[in-house]
Amino acid sequence: MKKIAILGSTGSIGTQTLEVVRCNPELRVVALAAGSNVEKMEEQIREFKPVLAAMWSEEAAAQLRSRVADTGVKVTAGMEGLLEIAVMPESQVLVTAIVGMIGIRPTIAAIEAGKDIALANKETLVTAGHIIMPLAAKCKAAILPVDSEHSAIFQSLNGEPKDRIEKILLTASGGPFRGRRREQLEHIQVEDALNHPNWSMGRKITIDSSTLVNKGLEVMEAKWLFGVDLDRIQVVVHPQSIIHSAVQYVDGAIMAQMGTPDMKLPIQYALFYPDRRFLGGKRVDFFELAQITFEKPDTEVFTGLSLAYQAAEAGGSMPTVYNAANEKAVSLFLDRKITFLQIPELIGKAMEHHKVIEAPTVEQILETEAETYEYILGKVKLLR
Ligand code: NAD
Ligand code: MG
Repeated sequence: MKKIAILGSTGSIGTQTLEVVRCNPELRVVALAAGSNVEKMEEQIREFKPVLAAMWSEEAAAQLRSRVADTGVKVTAGMEGLLEIAVMPESQVLVTAIVGMIGIRPTIAAIEAGKDIALANKETLVTAGHIIMPLAAKCKAAILPVDSEHSAIFQSLNGEPKDRIEKILLTASGGPFRGRRREQLEHIQVEDALNHPNWSMGRKITIDSSTLVNKGLEVMEAKWLFGVDLDRIQVVVHPQSIIHSAVQYVDGAIMAQMGTPDMKLPIQYALFYPDRRFLGGKRVDFFELAQITFEKPDTEVFTGLSLAYQAAEAGGSMPTVYNAANEKAVSLFLDRKITFLQIPELIGKAMEHHKVIEAPTVEQILETEAETYEYILGKVKLLR
């Protein structure tokens, strides 16, 4: 029996993790945490019977507490709740499926408590990879990637030593606006950007996929996970999303992981690693595949991707600025307060404005996050 705790259980990755649990009786869910969806959390508690549950606000936690009083589950709130779940003795693996830098503290606490991490929350690695990766090595905690590209790289590496890697080929679908010119992106509406061609995901990551900022975050995530320099990470646009990423070795061999796009595969692989379990669903049929194609990303139009390489190159607190500026800009875009092209513009401005802190502590990362939010809000006020 493998016992798991899930942060972000009501979201896209969280609910798909629970689908994997439903099909695998050897998995037991011991804790669930979510933001504000009390109704869905109640359903999940009744089905999976965890010992602990957490909601972000005290108000939502109080509502949940009264709704599930008959179940015996303990309900907590806020960062304290997330931290309690992260370190609870009953769990072996923490699935980090929350969005944003809120995941940093619970991930660190879980590693220190000796838990393995099934990591979906890429923002944590992007901003605090220099803290997380050495800590995980010291505490002998495994960081198992859930992001589909990183799972594909992990599967293609399968224990090969790092110095045999020539290049990581990080694939990208290109999002809904692949092939467009810059002026064609001026009037993009929220609904257009939320319409991803191959994957159904949470709102923030769906917008990030349409700007290629998601790929930029993934370049930094790959750098930390696999310890590979930036110039060895190449983004390859592959619109059909069949090759989920690949590793090119020093002898020229390329190992890739392919399959129908389905996040349950990387989730399940992380939970059972190094084993593989049965997973239902559509198989790739080579005879049905009309064609698989590849192109270079258009970094002139999708400047969010080149900014990511610049942020990673600058290092220190700059990836935090990149990530925080994007988070704020995406939420302003979703509220229809800024245009689509203003997202990368604002990231660029925030990065220009920032003075890098080398190897920032968690406190400095969170301060940089808050300062960047302020900076973006100030800029947007001036624009209006
Ligand atoms: P989502 O928006 O669908 O779900 C987020 C979850 O986190 C929800 O359960 C929400 O209630 C919870 N949450 C938000 N704020 C919280 C808080 N303060 N405290 C506790 N819980 C909180 O997001 P998602 O698409 O599932 O993405 C989750 C993470 O996984 C992100 O980092 C994303 O980049 C990454 N990821 C997602 C996918 C995907 O297919 N959806 C693929 C790869 C990586
Ligand atoms: Mg991905």
